[in-house]
Amino acid sequence: MKELYPWQQEAWQSLQGLRTRLPNALLIKGAQGIGKLEMALGFAQSLLCETPSVSGLPCRQCDSCRWFGQGTHPDYRLVQPEALSNTEDGNEKEGGKKPSREISVDQIRALASFANLSAHRGGYRIVLVHPAESMNINSANALLKTLEEPTGKLLFILVTHKPQQLLPTILSRCLSLPVNTPSREVGTAWLKQQGVENPENALAQSGFAPLLALHWAEAGEGTEEINILLSAMQRPAQMDALMLADKLQRCAPVQVVHCLQQWCYDLASAKLTGQVRYFPEQMEILKKLSVNVPAMRLLRYQKELQTAKREAFHPLNPKLQFESILLSYRQVFASSGA
Ligand SMILES: [Zn+2]
Repeated sequence: MKELYPWQQEAWQSLQGLRTRLPNALLIKGAQGIGKLEMALGFAQSLLCETPSVSGLPCRQCDSCRWFGQGTHPDYRLVQPEALSNTEDGNEKEGGKKPSREISVDQIRALASFANLSAHRGGYRIVLVHPAESMNINSANALLKTLEEPTGKLLFILVTHKPQQLLPTILSRCLSLPVNTPSREVGTAWLKQQGVENPENALAQSGFAPLLALHWAEAGEGTEEINILLSAMQRPAQMDALMLADKLQRCAPVQVVHCLQQWCYDLASAKLTGQVRYFPEQMEILKKLSVNVPAMRLLRYQKELQTAKREAFHPLNPKLQFESILLSYRQVFASSGA
């Protein structure tokens, strides 16, 4: 952890308030792409640090911090899906088996011996579970068992952007700490500092998740394609869904669906309130388009996009998925003369 993101001050202070009376389990929750994991890691590191700063940041110099940085601290465990642990060496393991996207029950059971040890360094032992919603029912139950028999000076930190997917019995055993999504001003200013072009647009299109916006900007991922999509959406009657779907193949499916969702959000918003959220520059065209769109039809399409988004994380055939949602988009405007 280099430093706190500017929008995390409040949550960080709440964490500092807990230092002297830590719960058995802490749930750090908030939107995706706002740096919850970095903050959780920073907190874990600072609890283990021998000489944290006045504001509670880890010193990054002591033995503890060094071990933590190398991932070898004896009093710390990070539990995450296999797919996140080895992102660099591609998607496939030996034997062609894909790494799991779930936290397995074995990973949780393996904590048992760790949970029963006393700390090497005499302080806390910490287990960080991320993303907590990737526990399946078996691993969640195994974790629950551990939480039900708290041992002294052992802290679980769960990080999630989908707390509603966690077992209520787990939720009830965690102290919940919400991390706020940054305001438009704070997020834009931060992206500008990072050298992102059109920071305001980038922020809005990422759903106000600055880290996601930065990632997209740095990777230059699909920027060109998304611009093609944007201009096509402004002229639904002329949209060639099949050709467009073909062009969009270089984008992450999630990014395409996300863009359509935000566009439709703005269409609905322009229609109902005359305001837009994600595409301020296209306000006029959105207003014009929205006039002839039946609200019910738009709503139905938004539901279709929600389903598409769930599938977008592992689509069988992205091109087919794109074709289908683009054809439906045209359909929304079909007899409206737009
Ligand atoms: Zn330190």
